Amino acid sequence: MSDCLFCKIIAGEIPSKKVYEDDLCYAFYDIDPQAPTHFLVIPKAHIASVSAVTGDTAPIVGHIFEVIARLAGELGLESYRVVSNIGPQAGQSVFHLHFHVLSGRDMTWPPG
Ligand code: 5GP
Ligand code: ZN
Repeated sequence: MSDCLFCKIIAGEIPSKKVYEDDLCYAFYDIDPQAPTHFLVIPKAHIASVSAVTGDTAPIVGHIFEVIARLAGELGLESYRVVSNIGPQAGQSVFHLHFHVLSGRDMTWPPG
């Protein structure tokens, strides 16, 4: 999608600090980290949010969770939080599906 920030990051048109990449997804550090470790994992296909996931695209989401589990292991994250905001009231600011992976500090529940 031409006017999507994260599609531009995937295309390399906007620089990012890569954590991992494969045919289906791209992981990179958040520009405004909210924890000592904070990266995002996004599908290469443009999907607006969890709300737009269909039967066709659900396997990509499953793959992303497999990647998150693997990266957490490789990075030595023993405890971490995976977050996806859906819609402006929940705090979504980029409308390309992404999973935040946050680790390295105490976290509160419920989230603010
Ligand atoms: P959301 O608010 O939609 O849940 O999460 C979007 C995230 O993207 C935010 O945590 C924000 O800091 C991050 N972000 C926004 N623009 C950029 C950028 O240009 N580069 C990187 N690496 N992260 C970005
Ligand atoms: Zn996009």
